[in-house]
Amino acid sequence: MVLEVQSLLVAVAVATTCCAIARIILYKLHPGMDGLGHWAWASVVGALSFAVAGTGAGMSGDTSLSVAHGLVILGFCLVWDGFRRFLGRKPFAPRVYVGLGGVALALILYSHLQGSLHVRAAANSLAICAISAGVARELLWRAPPKQLAMRLAGWVYFLNAAFFALRGVSVGLDLEFMGGRLSYGITALATLWWLCVTISVTLCMVLMAGERLQEELNHQASRDPLTGALNRRAFSGLAEKELARARRSGLPLSVLMMDLDHFKQVNDRLGHGGGDDALCLFVALAGRLLRTEDLFCRFGGEEFLALLPGSTAVQSLVVAERLRTIFTEEAGQDVPGAASLPFAMTVSVGIAQLAEDDGLEEIIRRADAALYRAKDLGRNRCELAGG
Ligand code: GH3
Ligand code: MG
Ligand code: MG
Repeated sequence: MVLEVQSLLVAVAVATTCCAIARIILYKLHPGMDGLGHWAWASVVGALSFAVAGTGAGMSGDTSLSVAHGLVILGFCLVWDGFRRFLGRKPFAPRVYVGLGGVALALILYSHLQGSLHVRAAANSLAICAISAGVARELLWRAPPKQLAMRLAGWVYFLNAAFFALRGVSVGLDLEFMGGRLSYGITALATLWWLCVTISVTLCMVLMAGERLQEELNHQASRDPLTGALNRRAFSGLAEKELARARRSGLPLSVLMMDLDHFKQVNDRLGHGGGDDALCLFVALAGRLLRTEDLFCRFGGEEFLALLPGSTAVQSLVVAERLRTIFTEEAGQDVPGAASLPFAMTVSVGIAQLAEDDGLEEIIRRADAALYRAKDLGRNRCELAGG
């Protein structure tokens, strides 16, 4: 098989244009997703670089090549910035663009003045290798374990960095010991490689956006929209697993049933917005006090449920007391208008420890009975199930 550079270049130009269209559509479909706009711009700049290199754009051959190389580097920087934004990292400041652009410009200018295609190819390869390594590091080190498309994109950039390092060295050292055939082979191989990378990176971007969307859907399906706490359905699934684990290990497990006191009056006096603020504050405080392995859900209205694996009822009572105290303290300061209420915002808690024959419903029922007792005994208190 003969790899013919001219035909490959046509294929790359077509692929680059198709990928640019795909990335623009991707951005239009998800305009709120960070980074997609930069990926789209990068592909437009990439397509432009091909147009300049292919047509000359009315410039001399050398100048058009330099401009095309500059555009390629700009496209890579935009992609890198796009990945950072997608990952939720700090976007590149303008001075980073100026810095990266300055180094690229110096390389391009040097190879332009040298007037050697070898020097130009080596400088270009070096720049692409450095930026690809930066993108690969970003994606492979920071991708969460389940983000397969992100990892895949990271490996594509890693291989790209390795490929252009090899290309830079071989072209820079002018390895023509195969009578010139090698340099021709390298150019064809580099063009073919470029084709594969362009397509696979765009494919990874589409998959990454899909992954992100699925993540958001999963989050929405399992969370209460107001407070961000787990909803009942998600809690039940996770709690059943914790119960099975506690039974297997023989370790204790406790459940807290919590209900904000006189919440109807809070709403009546502060309005629904004030009530919502109190609910969000309570969830934030629970998030601060509970451990990562604990589960916490909005059971409904102003009722919340927590499951504490490995904790006895007495240990859970300590946690519940801390939450009760801190809620009253912070609600008085943080919920607008709370200071003017004729009563303090409080919470009552019922606590039950897993008994031998308990199922999830049974332990929740016992915690709920303890909560009722706390309400009957005057509210703003924690009660253990079974006395
Ligand atoms: P108790 O001390 O006996 O628990 O009295 P309570 O007033 O807290 O209980 P009740 O069940 O009478 O009232 C619960 C109130 O919680 C009524 C409802 O409007 C309010 N509520 C439920 N969900 C929300 C919500 O999402 N936001 C706000 N602001 N209020 C809510
Ligand atoms: Mg209540
Ligand atoms: Mg209630």
